[in-house]
Amino acid sequence: MSGNEARRVPVLRPKLPSTAALVPYLQRIDASRTYTNHGPLVAELEDRLAATAGDATFVTASNGTMAIAGAILATAGWATPERVLAIVPGFTFVASAIAARLCGYRPYFVDVDANGALQADALRAHPALARAGVVIPVAPFGRPVAQAPWERFERESGIPVVIDAAASFDFLERDAAGLTGAIPVAISTHATKSFSTGEGGGVLVTDATLAARVTQALNFGFYANRSSATPSVNGKLSEYHAAVGLAELDGRGGKRADLDRTIGYYRAAASDEGIGDALLAWPDVARCYVMLRAPSGSARAALEHAMDAAGFETRSWYGDGAHAHPEFAGCERDALPATEALGATLLAVPSAPDIPEATVRAIVRVAAHVLREGSVTA
Ligand SMILES: *Cc1c(COP(=O)(O)O)cnc(C)c1O
Repeated sequence: MSGNEARRVPVLRPKLPSTAALVPYLQRIDASRTYTNHGPLVAELEDRLAATAGDATFVTASNGTMAIAGAILATAGWATPERVLAIVPGFTFVASAIAARLCGYRPYFVDVDANGALQADALRAHPALARAGVVIPVAPFGRPVAQAPWERFERESGIPVVIDAAASFDFLERDAAGLTGAIPVAISTHATKSFSTGEGGGVLVTDATLAARVTQALNFGFYANRSSATPSVNGKLSEYHAAVGLAELDGRGGKRADLDRTIGYYRAAASDEGIGDALLAWPDVARCYVMLRAPSGSARAALEHAMDAAGFETRSWYGDGAHAHPEFAGCERDALPATEALGATLLAVPSAPDIPEATVRAIVRVAAHVLREGSVTA
């Protein structure tokens, strides 16, 4: 490792509960000798998360990808030869497409609006609907997807809809009713998300029958007995991951305050440097993302280069879009100009609940230098 490598500031440095905070929960696992299969800690975590989720049930899953797959299997089931396509926005993390493929679907990528969201109205007359078995709108960087237009879409088209809201936990806390409804909503609790169980996730459902079907889809198709009766995978959350989630909930207020302080540093520094408009952060996106919007692809490239030279790691969270990954290169798709423009201009900068203000100031100074120069030469 070079000296420069050693000093690099990572783009995201999550902080999960300490060993001390986990011990009481781990001792309960020692006592219960239940390690998975909906044990007491998972039950308690689901109860406590239900209090956050308003009218919805939070069905835990082993990760966000399995949460999406469980929701697909519980609503649309496996792909069929007649309905083999899953409509997925290009502008998403590749897991949305992977979850569809796990259930036998072939992703068909469609474009998003200027804010990165797939709109139900834009799909209404799409020719691919005739071959589609499921539609997976995505909450871009956690920004909530309204239920009503998708409930209407599902009613009119007869095609099940599953919302990938993997990064939306912050928005769930703020306004559960604005996020949940008849359409199942998949959440991730990966270490990089704002609320974490290490690996983990869940599906928010307001209908009790659907909650039972999702639980069954994530547990070998078993329900009440050991007969595999429905399309399924194994996507259960273990007691160990639930322990992390419970400790994380105990410290939730503090973690939120820490993340908000980091975001406050960024807002103040960006405003002082005259690039406040370029900053994209909570409450526009989930607390785990602090991003800059460059005016062009070349400005973004210059920004990336300057950050790297200064020892600040950056990331394009959705890359050039899910369709651009080699694994999905052969998939059918529409022209994706909005997806490509967003992918080419957004750049995440280092964030952590305990990043020092001086580091944020240094990052924003580098960014402001590049962005101001770009606007002069543009
Ligand atoms: C994080 C994320 C996922 C995947 O969640 P995992 O828990 O990592 O499997 C899926 N979709 C989106 C939009 C995400 O941000």
